[in-house]
Amino acid sequence: MKRRRINENKRVLKAAKRVLVGGVNSPARAFNYVKTDPIPIKKGKGSRIYDYNGNRYIDYLLGFGSVILGHGINEVTKEISDSCEDGIVFGATNLYEVKLAESIRKAVPFFEKIRFTTSGTEAVMSALRLARGATGRNKIIKFAHSYHGHADHLLAKSGSGVATLGIPGSKGVPKDFTRHTLTAPYGDRHYMDRLFNKFGSDIAAVIVEPVGGNYGVITPDIGFMRYLRDITKKRGSLLVFDEVITGFRLHFGTAAQYFGIKPDLICLGKIIGGGLPIGAYGGGNKVMKHLAPTGGVYQASTFAGNPVVMRAGVKTIHLLSNMRKRYEFINNLTEDLVIELLREAAILGIGLSMRVFCSMFSLRFERKAHFEIFYKIMLKEGIYLAPSEFESNFLSFSHNRKDIEKTINAAKKALHAIATKRGLI
Ligand SMILES: *Cc1c(COP(=O)(O)O)cnc(C)c1O
Repeated sequence: MKRRRINENKRVLKAAKRVLVGGVNSPARAFNYVKTDPIPIKKGKGSRIYDYNGNRYIDYLLGFGSVILGHGINEVTKEISDSCEDGIVFGATNLYEVKLAESIRKAVPFFEKIRFTTSGTEAVMSALRLARGATGRNKIIKFAHSYHGHADHLLAKSGSGVATLGIPGSKGVPKDFTRHTLTAPYGDRHYMDRLFNKFGSDIAAVIVEPVGGNYGVITPDIGFMRYLRDITKKRGSLLVFDEVITGFRLHFGTAAQYFGIKPDLICLGKIIGGGLPIGAYGGGNKVMKHLAPTGGVYQASTFAGNPVVMRAGVKTIHLLSNMRKRYEFINNLTEDLVIELLREAAILGIGLSMRVFCSMFSLRFERKAHFEIFYKIMLKEGIYLAPSEFESNFLSFSHNRKDIEKTINAAKKALHAIATKRGLI
């Protein structure tokens, strides 16, 4: 690894701290959990990212799972720069909104109608507003440790940065705002039955991440999701799948298709924008028609559906469609990586558990201090993981077997260092 004499990383961080709160624009980037300075990233190409000192890392964060093709994919960047030539935002319908909706619908026929937003947060917030508007009910049920963006009423007992920082919710959210948010333990049917018995006629929707990705990876309970489908149908509530991570992550399509469960609304984000800011929600005409301008549920945006993001999305979906065999390849790579890490940890007697689903994985050490040591050594070895045990790691189509071997070797070094510190070797 090259090291320049001037520490440019430090310079960037110092400047960032002067003008940005905590030096970041989103708390999960601050590396608080691993008690070290964050690494500012200058650029990325394929599976690699580079900091300002010129150090190279294999990236497993990938914009929190957004760039499934990898960084700086030529076809996508060309599409983005071409689209800029024609103007960036109009506040009027353009053909690329239609094209992205069509290409998503071709992969996921579930989406009779789609509404694009500029973030996953907006998509989920608006989908739940729609669920309330369509049912005329107030309450929603979410699951503890899931993360559905940072809308006021959805931060209670949330995952992602909220979990990382160990806070129950967020300051600045009046109790009244979360009055209609019910939180249940994931997988607990009795608890759900009780909620439905008590509040059933006022429950507008149940929202769930079909594969939890914001408290580490949460292994899906398919039986439980089927139960959710049944009880919501029976009680006249809507089932909403938050697929901001899982949409086009597990395979070429949604987790709903993957598990063979049909919700009433699905939220998308991250991957479908090709790395640019996006969100989307949609479902059948029967529900979607309640949305303004055809219905009374209002939701609007200046930048939603702008041609730059739409074209990046269309190109990405197109590339994914042509490369769909690659999903299996990266899912297998992920499994290999996880097996090797667990094997090594077991040999050394280190308490490490890992959760994996397709190309998502997360680590959990018995002792948090071990994660901190592990994380710092991995960084030094050129491996960039999610900076918290409560975030998921991802593989991209740019990751190859060599990357995995390098990562396994680095992990072995890190695990050995932990074992040595514990005096086990
Ligand atoms: C990232 C995420 C969101 C929020 O999306 P943003 O684009 O960050 O607003 C919502 N739900 C889930 C499951 C997510 O992972």
